[in-house]
Amino acid sequence: MTVPCVRVRPQAGEETRQALADRDCLDTRYDITVEDGWLYLPVTDAPDSFEVVAFDAPERETQTTPADLLGFDPSLERLGDIVIIDEDDDERAQAIADAVMASDLPAKTVVNRASKIKGELRVRDWDVLAGNGTETVHREYGCAFELDIARVYFSPRLATERHRVTEQVREDERFLDMFAGVGPFVIPAARRGAECVGCDLNEAAVDYLRRNAERNAVADRVTPIHGNVRELVPEYENWADRLVANLPHSANEFLDTAVALAADDCVLHYYDIQHDEAPFAPGLEAIREAAEPAGYTVAVETERVVRSYAPHELNVCLDVRLTR
Ligand code: SAM
Repeated sequence: MTVPCVRVRPQAGEETRQALADRDCLDTRYDITVEDGWLYLPVTDAPDSFEVVAFDAPERETQTTPADLLGFDPSLERLGDIVIIDEDDDERAQAIADAVMASDLPAKTVVNRASKIKGELRVRDWDVLAGNGTETVHREYGCAFELDIARVYFSPRLATERHRVTEQVREDERFLDMFAGVGPFVIPAARRGAECVGCDLNEAAVDYLRRNAERNAVADRVTPIHGNVRELVPEYENWADRLVANLPHSANEFLDTAVALAADDCVLHYYDIQHDEAPFAPGLEAIREAAEPAGYTVAVETERVVRSYAPHELNVCLDVRLTR
């Protein structure tokens, strides 16, 4: 099966394997292989400094999976070394957790969703079924994010979407994430050279954002701010070349603030959850209502369905350029 592999000369093999293991990047479901003078190390992710290629690595036959132990294939999500399950039946949940811990999956903790995402801080309750820690380091697209799932919002499912947005960031721009969390938009934007501000109401998230800026060596370009994003005005008025507003159920309530923060030419990435019949129209109307009286022209750059949120409900992103 073709999987991402770090490719190095065999002389650098052990050093590379250790560096990848330290970062928890090795994909242990596949064998490390030598072919034509190169060593291929299967990875789940890898820092930018490594060369990653697609390679047909053999699956490890000795690997014991949770499915081997359970007799069925459970649905699992990974966040760093935490395995997340979503089971209503407590007995089944515990059986899955025990199987995960007894398997060869590199898991430190298994948690089950115990509530919906709730409140202003968008944090969920968890039942810890095995292990004891809810803090982890999650890696995506070469960035490392330290976080505690019991104290902050974080969704690994949005990795591709975040990458899509942050790939557009230019070196010289001013980037502001209105609802920054632990920094999954801010850190990659700063790594591209932007001057970044990340604001969040959740003090724990802002502490992690600060730590993540240091961990990813971009602290000099990141200003973490704890508080209500409305309080960024007037200090950051007319400041941002790019804004991210990822608070899907209520971002419309903050469009006046977004408009105040926008520079005269600004791209706004606006996240929304709407009915699938017209998922973009309400957001666009709200953006126009907020931006046009302030003298901006609103041009849609992208309308993107991020994922299905519930039956007939879509999580979408509108990329709009505001100019005046
Ligand atoms: N951007 C991050 C991400 O993608 O992981 C976090 C998004 S999460 C859906 C929304 C975040 O907005 C939460 O961390 C919450 O604490 C924060 N928040 C909610 N209301 C806020 C406000 N008025 N000002 C600043 N942050 C706020």
